[in-house]
Amino acid sequence: MATLTESEAQHDEQVVTRWRELESGKLARVIGIVNEQALSIKQRHHHRVNAVINSSGMTIYAKIEALWEAVDELGAVAKPHAACRKGCSHCCHTSVLMPEQEAALIGRRIGVKPRTVTGLTRRGDVAAGYGNPCPFLKGDACSIYSSRPLACRQQFNMDSDALLCELIGGPSKVPYLNLMDYQTALAMVTTSQRDCIGRDPSSGRPVPLTVTTAPAVGDIRQFFPKGRP
Ligand code: SF4
Ligand code: SF4
Repeated sequence: MATLTESEAQHDEQVVTRWRELESGKLARVIGIVNEQALSIKQRHHHRVNAVINSSGMTIYAKIEALWEAVDELGAVAKPHAACRKGCSHCCHTSVLMPEQEAALIGRRIGVKPRTVTGLTRRGDVAAGYGNPCPFLKGDACSIYSSRPLACRQQFNMDSDALLCELIGGPSKVPYLNLMDYQTALAMVTTSQRDCIGRDPSSGRPVPLTVTTAPAVGDIRQFFPKGRP
């Protein structure tokens, strides 16, 4: 087992103490306030997001931008209660995953062609940490703020400061606001389904099939290794 430095051990102690405070009801109170304020927005989004997912007239880029807008609307409600501030960038040193279509949209908006990524990257597959920040982080601020991916837009630490986001000592859990519905919607709009006919292997008779094609998913460092040169 690796020996912790004194500052790592102190940080771990602070993390444990903080989570005790949060679990004593503080976190539930903050999330309760945000959820109450966000309820009517979420109800409206439920219909809007379903329409976006099922739309045959919208381009994939328009669909992704519509999801960004929806998350930003909720973000405006969450932000006053979150620890997130301009200049706070621990999260920009962690994995930032997105589907290839979202990388293509960002590339179009910022004028940089993303690299091709194949397969499915998972958190931790690409080295991150303080030594390997997101290539778009400039002077502790996001240089593509209006074009940042959903993964960044939906990230709100509902604590009072960034202690639990610090990448020090052991892995820490961050009390993020749960906006997973929007990540699920992004997965749905970027996954394609095609109806076709196959053959039953035993009888040889035709059978209807639905073929699902999931997008390649990569880390922002893979798609844009040089950021915006
Ligand atoms: S998620 Fe954490 S690191 Fe990122 S801005 Fe919010 S508090 Fe700072
Ligand atoms: S795109 Fe912007 S907000 Fe997202 S990780 Fe990179 S610098 Fe941070």
